[in-house]
Amino acid sequence: MSEYVSPWMNDELAIHREAVARFVEAQMLPNDAQWREQHHVGREIWRKAGELGLLCADIPAQYGGAGGDFRHEAVLYEELHRRGLSGFGQGVHSIAAHYLLNHGTEEQKCRFLPRLASGELIGAIAMTEPGTGSDLQAIRTRAERVADEYLINGSKIFITNGYLAGLVMLVVKTDPTQGAKGLSILIVETKDLEGYRVGRFLDKIGQRAQDTTELFFDNVCVPADRVLGAEEGRGFAQLMSDLPYERAIVALQAVAAMEGALAETLRYVKERRAFGKAIAEFQNTRFELAEAVTIARVARTFIDRCIQQVVEGTLDAVTASMAKWWTTDMQHRVLDECVQLHGGYGYMNEYLVARMYVDARVTRIYGGTNEIMKELIARSL
Ligand SMILES: Cc1cc2nc3c(=O)[nH]c(=O)nc-3n(C[C@H](O)[C@H](O)[C@H](O)COP(=O)(O)OP(=O)(O)OC[C@H]3O[C@@H](n4cnc5c(N)ncnc54)[C@H](O)[C@@H]3O)c2cc1C
Repeated sequence: MSEYVSPWMNDELAIHREAVARFVEAQMLPNDAQWREQHHVGREIWRKAGELGLLCADIPAQYGGAGGDFRHEAVLYEELHRRGLSGFGQGVHSIAAHYLLNHGTEEQKCRFLPRLASGELIGAIAMTEPGTGSDLQAIRTRAERVADEYLINGSKIFITNGYLAGLVMLVVKTDPTQGAKGLSILIVETKDLEGYRVGRFLDKIGQRAQDTTELFFDNVCVPADRVLGAEEGRGFAQLMSDLPYERAIVALQAVAAMEGALAETLRYVKERRAFGKAIAEFQNTRFELAEAVTIARVARTFIDRCIQQVVEGTLDAVTASMAKWWTTDMQHRVLDECVQLHGGYGYMNEYLVARMYVDARVTRIYGGTNEIMKELIARSL
């Protein structure tokens, strides 16, 4: 297949990619089976990634970040997801850091960002509740102002990095009489926090190395100065403004997964033989792969543009929604074909495409479901 290089790549990023690939191959890949078994990655891998400057790569150096831009982050997502490494919740960690960067007070940024960048704190974002996901305004977790604290009661579900998280960006109702304006984000440090409890590892069909859990808040108190941006009622607007960044990450991961699965499938069909020839020689294989690599290339071209727009600060919500629903739908379609071309081996967990196939299913659900993406696009028409 002809070599395609993203227009945003350059020599510096190529060196960065080599370092990231070395780290991922040496420190992550050999542990993935164990991490899937135990339902979480090792805490120490976060520290190691932090030491290499891979966490918060696009956060300014004055806050402990690597001072790069979204292209540096993109390289890490690509190197992880083309290898099917779905346990390391870097995306959510990075999104949590960006809420702080974009909306936090100077004191909040200085207090928390360096610790997120070093891997001392692992970030999570807790919006979804057992009773509501897509309809965010209907959340019930309540934070009541009592003197100079907030008293929190409620629970969250499906929280990525839930077990390892030291810092939770917690979406709460500060004013139950209001809709969107009644929401706030609280910055919650979880260590030794009385009344805070992490539930069991949720038994997911895929992404089994990812510590997705429930979180419980039973009369939890946090200081009043932990409202993101120091102003109540801004939560919904803060979430909305950062959604393009979050959706670009999900889309990019989907594209990288397609590319990784196709490279693996190409290798496989050239080796595997049936009826006296390589599987790759059947016309069906050739046409299916021709379609799949076309889809992956179209997706790549679109996501490359989105990456450049994130760097420029111009990625809008509608374009990001388009990228998210389409690439994840295509990820599902391409992965299904990769499994099919592997025959029975494609259904076995020890094969990369099998793990990628089950891991892919949720990408149409989280980060805003694909139906909600279409709703957002349709509203703009
Ligand atoms: C592995 C995993 C990780 C996750 N990580 C996080 C996390 O870190 N933090 C977090 O807060 N949440 C997280 N989530 C939650 C995820 O974002 C929600 O599951 C998702 O937003 C959907 O919400 P729901 O599950 O309540 O489904 P519902 O909102 O109940 O939706 C059910 C179905 O109805 C459809 N639907 C709903 N409303 C409409 C509408 N208006 N028009 C058309 N169709 C509609 C949906 O598209 C879906 O198909 C995660 C989920 C999973 C599975």
